[in-house]
Amino acid sequence: MILLEERIRKDGEVKPGQVLKVNSFLNHQMDIELFSLMAKEWKRLFSGEKITKILTVEASGIGLACLCAQEFHVPAVFAKKNLTNNLADSVYWARVVSYTHHREYNIIVEKSFLKPEDHILIIDDFLANGSALLGLIGMVEASGATLAGAGIAIEKGFQPGGELVRQKGVRVESLAIIENMDDFGNISFR
Ligand code: 5GP
Repeated sequence: MILLEERIRKDGEVKPGQVLKVNSFLNHQMDIELFSLMAKEWKRLFSGEKITKILTVEASGIGLACLCAQEFHVPAVFAKKNLTNNLADSVYWARVVSYTHHREYNIIVEKSFLKPEDHILIIDDFLANGSALLGLIGMVEASGATLAGAGIAIEKGFQPGGELVRQKGVRVESLAIIENMDDFGNISFR
């Protein structure tokens, strides 16, 4: 999506550890008009698919998921982080490694919000090593719901997550795929 690529070039900052900081429009302040256009693009890409629910993980996925849910006229569910270590029978959970914070945490979704009859579109802000997305996919699989695919805002194509998830047969639609970024702030797209 050219508009998103241009915005990343204009406002993105490359930080040590191959982290792209996009706090001015995605991860802290949010450009809702841009989110709306991104949601419309995912709606176009997944227009042939039956979708009954959007699934994301807090916090940065929530804004994108809400705009997407509005396009598809379905609810949005977000996986919560670290509510409890004493996991109840009534939740699906997955262990996720945080790329940016270098720690592990649990993500959980109440079982009542993911049903076998659901058709799920997962939405998230970044795809790097794939831990967050694989965790969400695992919960969808455990629920017996159908996974329509994943819509990602920014995929870092030089990290393995995208390939890992696509190898599982999951359709991944990333609106911007970064091929390369360096410490001088040069960013190239696939
Ligand atoms: P993964 O689980 O694929 O390794 O990383 C995905 C999650 O890590 C995203 O949901 C996002 O919160 C965070 N993340 C990974 N790489 C970046 C990055 O370069 N910039 C930012 N802002 N977040 C990232």
